[in-house]
Amino acid sequence: MSDVSSSELRALMARVPSVDKVMASVEFAPLIGEYGRTQVLHALRSALDAWRISAQSGDAAANPAVSALDAAQLHATVAAALLARNASRLRSVFNLTGTVLHTNLGRALLPDESVRAVMTALTQPANLEFDLATGTRGDRDDLIDDLICELTGAEAATIVNNNAAAVLLTLSALAAKKEVVVSRGELVEIGGAFRIPDIMSRAGAKLREVGTTNRTHLKDYEQAINARTALLMKVHASNYAISGFTKEVGIEAIATLAHARGLAVAVDLGSGTLVDLGEWGLPREPTVRETVAAGADLVTFSGDKLLGGPQAGLIVGRRELIAKIKKHPLKRALRVGKLTLAALEPVLRLYRAPEMLTERLTTLRLLTRPAEDIHGAAQRVLPALQQAIDARYTVAAEPMFSQIGSGALPVDVLPSYGLVVRMADGKRGGRHLLALEKQLREMARPLIGRIADDALRLDLRCLEAADETQLIAQLVAQPKRN
Ligand SMILES: *Cc1c(COP(=O)(O)O)cnc(C)c1O
Repeated sequence: MSDVSSSELRALMARVPSVDKVMASVEFAPLIGEYGRTQVLHALRSALDAWRISAQSGDAAANPAVSALDAAQLHATVAAALLARNASRLRSVFNLTGTVLHTNLGRALLPDESVRAVMTALTQPANLEFDLATGTRGDRDDLIDDLICELTGAEAATIVNNNAAAVLLTLSALAAKKEVVVSRGELVEIGGAFRIPDIMSRAGAKLREVGTTNRTHLKDYEQAINARTALLMKVHASNYAISGFTKEVGIEAIATLAHARGLAVAVDLGSGTLVDLGEWGLPREPTVRETVAAGADLVTFSGDKLLGGPQAGLIVGRRELIAKIKKHPLKRALRVGKLTLAALEPVLRLYRAPEMLTERLTTLRLLTRPAEDIHGAAQRVLPALQQAIDARYTVAAEPMFSQIGSGALPVDVLPSYGLVVRMADGKRGGRHLLALEKQLREMARPLIGRIADDALRLDLRCLEAADETQLIAQLVAQPKRN
């Protein structure tokens, strides 16, 4: 890089327009209208500073940005900087991972009814904690607890921010300074940060482990009960399965034992579905209603796993226990906002028409989507993907298996279809596949797939019609790479 002569530099600097003049120009008026003066001024000063630095440090003739400083270029630079700075950080992606309830991608997608309810709740005052019948202060739980009880057969219900909060609150309210009996086979860790032993100590309860990892008997629970026992607890193993020489005690037997000793049983169901998924040929999960009917005094479950609603933690069970939980100070700290309630209510109402659930409840529609349907999508997307990527990759439509996700039924898989990208030369292509994965991840709406067995795999189960159209349009708009 040669230094710029001082006369050249003076000439260059003379071309730098005055900030006031640029801000007052007609070209900049729309930018100021959209982003406000403060941000535009800041972006303009940064652009001019960058230009000055580059003019001083380099050969002006060899630096196109420096030699071509004009009003149009300045405007384009500032506009691009403002656009990038104000782009949303939470972005839509295409979930092509094959995991329907993907925690890192936001779990359940909500139906239109919820979208409309949230929009109204965002923009209009509502009776969140106001009893319209009496004109006095109300309780936000009242908006949905009847509906939850109707769908689960429980006496009472309350709702908090997520299921981890539901478990923490339940243990804090009912077992602080006391013992909670849990099988060693159920001391699970969910998603890295939720561990039953840790939640237990945070709640001030003492964990009383019984049995072994693979086998726990009723007598193990029986022998652990003492004067300090507050609860017998069962935790759904969610994200792992123990097979072989195993034994666990069912809720009914534990409940019979607990109730004979004047104790309560709490069950952390995790996913907590409200319907028998077996009806649609999906793997069976215990429903909340069955768990309540089996004798559980309290059941906790997530709102955004199989239930298909917003992030929330539901606690259902015996009236006096729920009343105690609602009085605990942590309830106030863990309560849900109005947007959650607005989104959840329509989802719960869909369960009143179970015969229409696979059509209306997004999660169930995705989980029950037939493989032939997904195969059709794969054939339509294939040519667009092939032409958007380098010719050294080859794309094929192939059967694959999706997962439910979010810890539900880890060993069961759903027959699906998707696009499989391999190296055209038959080589393994480790870093080339990584490069392609990155290319797809950096698109305007990123494609999130997964690399396995020397191929990039894009499962199209979660790509419904509108998204399919958008994905194809995005791929076709890519500069051709072949
Ligand atoms: C998922 C899960 C949780 C945590 O639920 P969040 O709603 O993610 O807080 C707790 N317990 C079990 C058994 C789970 O499967």
